[in-house]
Amino acid sequence: MVRRRQGWGAAPGLVSLATRHRSGLMGTRGKVSVSEVKTPPVTATRVDDIEDVKAVPGAFEYYTSRESGGAPAGIIYSCPCGCGRSGALAFRPAPSPSWHWDGNRDKPTLRPSVHHVGHWHGWLRNGVWESC
Ligand SMILES: [Zn+2]
Repeated sequence: MVRRRQGWGAAPGLVSLATRHRSGLMGTRGKVSVSEVKTPPVTATRVDDIEDVKAVPGAFEYYTSRESGGAPAGIIYSCPCGCGRSGALAFRPAPSPSWHWDGNRDKPTLRPSVHHVGHWHGWLRNGVWESC
């Protein structure tokens, strides 16, 4: 099955890493990449400071853009795997890759799934990061 969704759009280094992993997994079709971890559900704690985002796995903050007129244009989140790295997810109608947000500010749900390449793959549902 072709992986249709690339949850990470802002880090070329990670994308190339993913390509390497994929080619190395040709013979294990259907298996989950061993380099990614599965976690118990991780609460997505909403914070207002990027330093707090970095400190807490799964924490996130909203960012705005000129186009969004003060409304959330996406989130910056801390990788749920606990590595301390952060990523950004733009909300639609931003150009792909972007995510549909349900509008819940405290317990957001995003579609499609979030793939922090090489780290974690799952869903943000009702304010909880769930491994898939
Ligand atoms: Zn991570």
